[in-house]
Amino acid sequence: HAKAAGRNTFAVFGNHMEEVLRRRRALESDLAAALETGTQLAVHFQPVYSAQNGRVSSMEALCRWTHPTFGEISPDVFVPIAEECGLIQKLGLYVLEEACSLLSEVPDGDLGMSVNASAVELMSSGYALRVLTMLAKYGLQPTRLEIEITESVATDTNGKAAAAIRDLRMAGVRFAVDDFGKGNSSFGQLLKLDVDRIKIDKMFVDQIHQGGGMPLIEAIVQMARHKGLKTTAEGIETADQRLALTSLGCDHLQGFELSKPLSRVSTIQLMSEQDSRMEHTVL
Ligand code: C2E
Ligand code: MG
Ligand code: MG
Ligand code: MG
Repeated sequence: HAKAAGRNTFAVFGNHMEEVLRRRRALESDLAAALETGTQLAVHFQPVYSAQNGRVSSMEALCRWTHPTFGEISPDVFVPIAEECGLIQKLGLYVLEEACSLLSEVPDGDLGMSVNASAVELMSSGYALRVLTMLAKYGLQPTRLEIEITESVATDTNGKAAAAIRDLRMAGVRFAVDDFGKGNSSFGQLLKLDVDRIKIDKMFVDQIHQGGGMPLIEAIVQMARHKGLKTTAEGIETADQRLALTSLGCDHLQGFELSKPLSRVSTIQLMSEQDSRMEHTVL
């Protein structure tokens, strides 16, 4: 009896695995096709605010994929797929071009732009050159671009990615460690990071009003300041969190409480409004 039940369980599991694999293969070929046509893909932009003056100082480019049958697919799902089946370079270049062309369309000539780059992308040969070529195509100073990398990429100082990071930083491109504190790096390793900014992970922001939350974030902010690094707090969802992070001396703020990621059209609209408010105060 037990054996039969076991077989049945296996049969169900087998069917399930087949279904998972079928869906996965479909996603791979659909993503390749979407990258060819560019139709189902879009880039949204989440504003990042200066804690000092409350203005939008930069945007983070976030990729979106609306699949015709599965609907919205999270980048947490399709970015790893793109990495595994050799599509990440194309995806990264698509996002970078959308980001650069947006910057060339907004009135604020100082607006910064962040793009996320995966390890596979940074390690691919010619990455630094592709980035600098794209910036030049849109007439942008390299200092306006910030590339967000993971802790593991940032702490691997001998790898292929390190060479690309060094070349790009020499050209003026900035680097940030994304999701700071979420990885496995030790505090000692993190102190040695050769980057321009750390983005304090939402996990810390969520815990700010729990015991020990404030002093922990304060220590991170102080450590960053001591090293000459800027800080951005991500995933701010309440006014209390925003006020606490501002009082701790965090430089930049990002999260749904300030703004969700916006479509390209809404982003341009927001930046035009900020521009006219600016003119108003000057007059
Ligand atoms: P990330 O770079 O840490 O981006 C922040 C994520 O948190 C985004 O999710 C954003 O929409 C979300 N978020 C922002 N504020 C809040 C908030 O207040 N509350 C909550 N609950 N969430 C918030 P998204 O767009 O789904 O992206 C997920 C991750 O996928 C990103 O994490 C990034 O690692 C990756 N990703 C997105 N676009 C790209 C891309 O073009 N290239 C690469 N390589 N990775 C990307
Ligand atoms: Mg990011
Ligand atoms: Mg993040
Ligand atoms: Mg994240």
